[in-house]
Amino acid sequence: MNPPQAPAAPRFNQPLGGDAVPRFAGIATMMRLPHQPTAEGLDACFVGVPFDLGTSNRSGARFGPRQVRSESVLLRPYNMATRAAPFDSLQVADIGDVATNPYNIVDSIDRIEAAYDRIIAGGCRPITIGGDHTIAWPILRAMRKRYGPVGVVHVDAHADVNDTMGGEKIAHGTPFRRAVEEGLLDCQRVVQIGLRGTGYHADDFDWCRAQGFRVVQAEECWHRSLLPLMKEVVERVGGGPVYLSFDIDGLDPSFAPGTGTPEIGGLSVQQGLEIIRSLRGLDLVGADLVEISPPYDPQGTTALVGANLAYEMLCVLPGVQYRA
Ligand code: MN
Ligand code: MN
Repeated sequence: MNPPQAPAAPRFNQPLGGDAVPRFAGIATMMRLPHQPTAEGLDACFVGVPFDLGTSNRSGARFGPRQVRSESVLLRPYNMATRAAPFDSLQVADIGDVATNPYNIVDSIDRIEAAYDRIIAGGCRPITIGGDHTIAWPILRAMRKRYGPVGVVHVDAHADVNDTMGGEKIAHGTPFRRAVEEGLLDCQRVVQIGLRGTGYHADDFDWCRAQGFRVVQAEECWHRSLLPLMKEVVERVGGGPVYLSFDIDGLDPSFAPGTGTPEIGGLSVQQGLEIIRSLRGLDLVGADLVEISPPYDPQGTTALVGANLAYEMLCVLPGVQYRA
């Protein structure tokens, strides 16, 4: 008689299940995936950028990657809403954090850009956990070198297109101004969603429109599903590589209070999910989830939302299989 056969080893890395090791135990990698030090051999990775030297008000986003990993331990492999099965067809791991320099903002930017040059060199698509929004700029620099100017879906309460903050060019409210100046974006394929709140000048958002961005202020999103809007967005940003930059303060502070510059009247969690799920089918070359500040998130709510949104980003990457 043949001995019982062991089940075939899965082809791709799998999140560690709660039956194998309790969810509250072990080292908290993102989704309890294996950790590896580089992106070699990976189709996608989770990577942290613990950096908050660019914040203007409440800091603490440097603790974001660690807290999001901690809240991600409950995530299971299959997306019950969309039937996405990312670990059936993609090789994914947590590659740890970029070693930023907490004493030097310029050096940190250079380190982030160099790290992303390496991460995406072999085609790996990074899902980044920030970190404040400054980090989108060096990431987009790396993206530009490999893919050319990218389209961007930017979810945020803020436009992040200030020329300077406190007289400085590098801050979490300036990354998309720098990106436009450096030709990193295909401006006709840029959409900003969720903008709102008080401005420095009445025409703050008009600079974006003058670049060719589609600006969707939060009021345009109130009281409705975003699926019709996202149909328009996908048509606009498609036709080339697309990057998703998701500032958690795009969501309403009732859903995501743990962030540095909260603004009332924001998007719901459901609308955030609609935005991300609608990006399926695009050539999404990477995504980030930024501005989660654990010191202002004592219940872990914001980090839990962030962990789930990061998983949803993984689920819409090219090559993900969907179960029937
Ligand atoms: Mn932002
Ligand atoms: Mn913001």
